[in-house]
Amino acid sequence: MTTLVYTHEACLDHIPGPSHPESPERLKAVVQALRKPEFSDIEWRDAPMGTREQVLLVHTEDFVSDIEDSAPTRGYVPLDGGDTIMSPGSLEAVMRCVGAACAGVDAVMNKEAKNVFCATRPCGHHAEPDRAMGFCIYNQAAIAAAYAYEVHKLSRVAVIDFDVHHGNGTQAAFYDRPELFYASSHQSPFYPGTGSRTETGTAHNIVNVPLPRGCDSAMFRDRIAAEMLPAIRAFNPELIIISAGFDAHHLDPLAGLNLQDSDYDWITRELMKIADEVCEGRIVSILEGGYSLEGLASSTAVHVKALMNH
Ligand SMILES: [Zn+2]
Repeated sequence: MTTLVYTHEACLDHIPGPSHPESPERLKAVVQALRKPEFSDIEWRDAPMGTREQVLLVHTEDFVSDIEDSAPTRGYVPLDGGDTIMSPGSLEAVMRCVGAACAGVDAVMNKEAKNVFCATRPCGHHAEPDRAMGFCIYNQAAIAAAYAYEVHKLSRVAVIDFDVHHGNGTQAAFYDRPELFYASSHQSPFYPGTGSRTETGTAHNIVNVPLPRGCDSAMFRDRIAAEMLPAIRAFNPELIIISAGFDAHHLDPLAGLNLQDSDYDWITRELMKIADEVCEGRIVSILEGGYSLEGLASSTAVHVKALMNH
């Protein structure tokens, strides 16, 4: 079985402004990297539109109505003080993100693919059930997990997040839901300020691995191997969703960790080993952050290459 990649041109039409780091150029760099001949085995699919029903698996009705009403016909609308901005194309872009994530879950559950990568933007893991923030509008990774639970009747779904920022939104959505597990490694202290070890969820279904500024490959691998991988195995998920942010890369301009491309190969393979042991290899990986175009392209390529070598 192959690796599927979902993407859509509409994800380029979310335009948060000329100097915003979460630019359409990011997705162009990712897609360009994955179009190289060594990736010719990828099966590309257009991301379908997500549905309102899917969004409501995580977000509140009031919030979703607010987002729909906020979408401008021209210009920009700031959602949280200027970090998170809607442009005329944003609503379709986020619905393609949700649609890709849920279609990815369908594809691995129906055995159309062993694993999936969603090359979509904007990112989602900061979006809380009733709040857009941190460049994120809807939380597609959390939605995909809830979708797998509701629609495919899975009883345990894990989201693993190696973006350099803590996914406060995913944590908030999962906190009281023992069937959904969230593990995050992230720079700390750092935006958004959440993600301490004491935030464990009501059923110890949240695992936070804070990393100090300057954390290098050796420390990253030690901490992940000691604190995160055993917890994922213990949870015994039926599906692994990856919030794949690449802003812990040493080239990233927004953050201060020092990961190399090879670390993304390593963690991807470790997660694939667990997936092979517990859930027939099922992984849906979803692009989150990553703001060095060079670091984003090279580390995404390494990540997807690993996914293809199953
Ligand atoms: Zn990030």
